[in-house]
Amino acid sequence: MAQQEVFLKKLVAHCKEYGFVFPSSEIYDGLAAVYDYGQNGVELKNNIKRYWWDSMTLLNDNVAGIDSAVFMHPTVWKASGHVDAFNDPLIDNRDSKKRYRADVLIEEQIAKYEDKIEKEIEKAAGRFGNDFNETLFRQTNPRTIEYKAKRDNLYKRFVSAQNENNLDELKQIIVDEEIVCPVSGSRNWTDVKQFNLMFSTEIGSTAEGATKIYLRPETAQGIFVNFLNVQKSGRMKIPFGIAQIGKAFRNEIVARQFIFRMREFEQMEMQFFVRPGEEMRWFEYWKQTRMKWHKALGLGDNKYRFHDHSKLAHYANAATDIEFEMPFGFREVEGIHSRTDFDLNSHEKYSGKKIKYFDPDLNQSYTPYVIETSIGVDRMFLSIIAGAYTEEPLEGGDMRTVLKIPPVLAPVKIAVLPLVRKDELPERALKIMDELKFNCYCRYDDKDSIGKRYRRQDAVGTPYCITVDYDTLKDDTVTIRHRDTMEQERVPISALEDIVEDKLNIKNILKAIKA
Ligand code: ATP
Repeated sequence: MAQQEVFLKKLVAHCKEYGFVFPSSEIYDGLAAVYDYGQNGVELKNNIKRYWWDSMTLLNDNVAGIDSAVFMHPTVWKASGHVDAFNDPLIDNRDSKKRYRADVLIEEQIAKYEDKIEKEIEKAAGRFGNDFNETLFRQTNPRTIEYKAKRDNLYKRFVSAQNENNLDELKQIIVDEEIVCPVSGSRNWTDVKQFNLMFSTEIGSTAEGATKIYLRPETAQGIFVNFLNVQKSGRMKIPFGIAQIGKAFRNEIVARQFIFRMREFEQMEMQFFVRPGEEMRWFEYWKQTRMKWHKALGLGDNKYRFHDHSKLAHYANAATDIEFEMPFGFREVEGIHSRTDFDLNSHEKYSGKKIKYFDPDLNQSYTPYVIETSIGVDRMFLSIIAGAYTEEPLEGGDMRTVLKIPPVLAPVKIAVLPLVRKDELPERALKIMDELKFNCYCRYDDKDSIGKRYRRQDAVGTPYCITVDYDTLKDDTVTIRHRDTMEQERVPISALEDIVEDKLNIKNILKAIKA
């Protein structure tokens, strides 16, 4: 099994064992691509949402939040283009009966050529040592040149097939590239078909004539249809944004890779309304701002990169993804799109209601342009867990598994542990916990040896363990153990609140990104 797959399996098992993520309806063998969050998972998820929400609404006094309904008038999805164009190209392998996204199969093939080039470079760098000139090598090494030509040619064909919505050409590329089904190993493919990703249901009883409606595939449309409500009730002046966190539903063709691609998931979206002609400046602004937000978590700057879109959605004039190095390579966590005035214009047309903004500074009315930042809570969750999961050898040959989750996001911030379960130590520990629990999420644990309890807290990513021992009873001091270094220091109980405030409060990291 490839190393990446082994790592992902470990993450999935760890998330289940420690109460982060469970398969949905597990006692009935689960439901594909649907997951439940456990006691630690929900805390981490809530912290991610809090970090995002505060960064949008606290740091920007021109960004307001809303919470719109999942069900919307069916014409919304006609106007947004989802009824006609929210499709993925699917292809089946006749032998394995497995279903794939044709575009993903081709993208993986492109990535294979890129990997081959990187491997050649790695090998040569090892051979030549300090004398290695990578630019020259790329230009002259016959194998590298051949792989690059194949990659570029394939990329060109792929982009033009996608832009022309040419399903026959997508199939032909798969045939020409001799792409095989990873399960059956065969090239026995069906034709490529379009598949609409929206779930539908009915509202109202059949007696009164039920109407077909959709489960929203993105939260953005709830913002667009409320543009005037928020602008008018909040007396908002352009530029301003509307932020929302909520569930979205997509009947994904390929539901693999754990919580990376789910059928029910959560999005955090912000639509920023600007003057026409100023969208590129704001696009750049939000690109940089959002990257800063990610990097401030300290998982490593090298784990993030931008990926500009080669194929733009029907509504966009610029788009980029922020990718994170997942267990299966760099993948999109967040999309930043310049959506032009497409959505507001289209809702104006379909609803027959005027959706314009009167700009008092310009003394004119116009349809605002929109920059969107759209991030999946669950993908963000996966990136945090993947970036945090560490196995470390300990003295004496043991291993510890530790989740080095950014402390501000950790589900449990502080564990309070009496050294032994007697002689007033539990009572003292509970008293400390009673004081700290109003600052952050604390847990008390007195089962098993102290070493085992540290390991348990490491496994859920608790940044600090506070140990109460016999000296505590004498001098009101405790030991603080730091998760990442395992260092222990003696501190007075009275200092604990300051430590909590300094290291664990989301506001401190928000101040850092605004600085
Ligand atoms: P992909 O190309 O991976 O399908 P997308 O480009 O369709 O994603 P967007 O429509 O831009 O995604 O959605 C914005 C964000 O919502 C994504 O960056 C991702 O974090 C999240 N997201 C989208 N689809 C899913 C899903 N099926 N499961 C979990 N998160 C998702």
